[in-house]
Order: sequence, then structure tokens, then C-alpha cells
Amino acid sequence: MALFDRAIVSVLPAMPRGVVRRISSRYIAGTDIGDACRVVAGLNDDGKMATIDVLGEEITSAAEAEEIVRAYHDVFEAIRTQRLDSNVSIKPTGLGLQLGYELARENVETVVRHAAESGNFVRIDMEDSGTTDDTLRMYRELREQGLGNVGIVLQARLRRTLADVEALADLTPNVRICKGIYVEPPELAFQDFDDVRDNYVAVLDELLAQGSYVGIATHDEWLIAEGERLVAVHGRGRDEYEFQMLLGVRKPLGDRLVADDHRLRIYVPYGEEWYAYSLRRLQENPKIAGYIAADTLGRLVPGRNGR
Ligand SMILES: Cc1cc2nc3c(=O)[nH]c(=O)nc-3n(C[C@H](O)[C@H](O)[C@H](O)COP(=O)(O)OP(=O)(O)OC[C@H]3O[C@@H](n4cnc5c(N)ncnc54)[C@H](O)[C@@H]3O)c2cc1C
Repeated sequence: MALFDRAIVSVLPAMPRGVVRRISSRYIAGTDIGDACRVVAGLNDDGKMATIDVLGEEITSAAEAEEIVRAYHDVFEAIRTQRLDSNVSIKPTGLGLQLGYELARENVETVVRHAAESGNFVRIDMEDSGTTDDTLRMYRELREQGLGNVGIVLQARLRRTLADVEALADLTPNVRICKGIYVEPPELAFQDFDDVRDNYVAVLDELLAQGSYVGIATHDEWLIAEGERLVAVHGRGRDEYEFQMLLGVRKPLGDRLVADDHRLRIYVPYGEEWYAYSLRRLQENPKIAGYIAADTLGRLVPGRNGR
């Protein structure tokens, strides 16, 4: 990322929420479930699958966590009645992990059981390294209870990830592999771009060797090419893996994957709690300064932007 863009990233949290909201709107489906369903229906028409995320993380009361459980229940109903091709992604802290392990585990189990009732699937997102042990423990407990419609996320940035793959091998887990968005210290995480890429490839190779279903989540063209190579090396059929991308990021690259007959799932977040997710996405956008400039220009010159 260029120096100027990096400088902009550091001041993003101090920017007015209105600006953050406008420039991050392409990453978010909207505030309500109707918005999410409309976006998913459009993606499905384009031959893409989806995973819906009800925005909300690091909640501070059990009642807020319950709200999110209820929201997911409504999402499963909407997916079923509208015949959408979508599963869901959940965040352990959105379901109460910071309030207590047991509370979060029960909430996650409730969502997974609701999903099972409508033949759906739940991906447990991976948050910062302080939550990794609890999240993996939760996943193992759910699987050992016989719940098979649940998957996990592993982060290539973390040094521990290859060991986690080995520790989970007896479950043949359904895994989304991503680089990892959270800033982590050097003792825990690779800091070098190429080291993260190398670990991503090593983890993906091992997961495929173990027979796991893998969601290859990245917009990095080099890694996508490595993903295509590795699924071929391991003789994976079209339905035995998928690529995954975020709403609003590198659409032409996603279109290319679909045209090449790969399955692609798009991460579709919606909800009122858009701020933390939006900040993370903007901080990753290598052209953030240009977006802010365009937004400012759009407000100075009537008729541009948002019409
Ligand atoms: C479906 C999905 C689910 C995810 N789930 C998790 C999770 O559970 N836990 C977690 O820690 N992380 C998650 N992530 C985020 C992931 O860890 C990375 O932070 C993110 O995908 C960026 O890494 P990259 O592999 O795309 O490579 P990068 O090198 O960051 O990006 C490659 C290129 O993609 C483009 N790009 C990337 N991000 C943006 C952006 N925001 N705006 C505009 N262009 C962009 C740029 O051109 C960039 O050069 C998920 C990502 C995806 C796609």
C-alpha cells in the first residue's frame, strides 16, 4: 500500500461516520434482511453463491446476542422461502464470546440447529487470536455432538495454523482458509506478505491432502492461481471446493472464476452495526485515498456520486 494511502488508513477511525458509511457502502448489502436477500438473489442470477453475515460483533449484553440469534433464524426462513443459494457466517463475539464461553457456545449451537432444520450450513468466522482457542474448541464440541452442518475458518497469517489443521484432522473439517484480517504480534503471526502467502499455500495443500472441503477465500490473484493449481493436483471435482470473495471487492476477478466453471461464494454482510466491518474493509483497500478524494469531490460537485 502506498505511503499516502497508509497515512489515510491511520486516520480513518477519526473520520466522521457519514464519510465512512458512504465510502464503504459497496461492501455492505444494506441495513435489513430485505436488502441482503435482494443482493443474494442478484448474485445467484450471476451464478454465484452467498454467505450472509448479520453484522454485530463484540456485543456487550446477552440480550444483544439473543437478537442476533433471532436475526439468523429469520435469515434461514428468508433463504428457504425465497429459495436463495446462501448459507450464513457468524461471529463468536457477536453471539457473546466476550461475555462467557458457555453463553456463546449455546447461542452458536442454537443457530447451527436452526440451520439444520432448514437444511442449511453455518460458517464460524475466525476473529482475533485471543478467540482462536475458544472458537476451535466450540467447533470441535459441536461436531462431537453430531452437528455436521458447521464449518470453521483458519487464518494463514497465524503461525499456529498448520498445527491447528493437524489437530483438527480427525474431524475432516469444512474449512474456509483466508489470510486473516486482524493485526497480530510477530510472535503469533507472520508479518511478511510472502510468508503469509507461503503459509496459505501450505495450509491449503494440507487441507486438500486430508480430504477437507475447502473455501479458498482471497482476492489475491497469485493465491487464486495457486488454489486452481492445487485443486487440480488433488483431483478435486467442481463440487468439492469453492472460491470465496467479499461483496464489493474485485468483481471482475470473481466473474472470471465463474466463467472458468469454478464455484464462487460471496460474503454478504447486512445490518445496522456496519461500522467495525466497514473500517476493516476500508483499511484493506489499497486505493483508499482515491475513494476519499472521489467522495469529497462528489459532495463538492453536485450531480456526482450517489445519484
Ligand atoms: C469470503 C471471505 C471471508 C473472510 N472471513 C474472514 C474471517 O473469518 N476472519 C478473518 O480474519 N478474515 C476473513 N477474511 C478476510 C481475509 O482474511 C483478508 O483480510 C482479505 O480477504 C484480504 O486478503 P486477500 O487474500 O484478498 O489478499 P490482499 O493481498 O489483501 O488483497 C488482494 C487484492 O485484493 C484487493 N482487495 C482486497 N481487499 C480489498 C478491499 N477491502 N477493497 C478493495 N480491494 C481490495 C486489492 O486489489 C488487493 O491488492 C475473509 C475474506 C473473504 C474473502
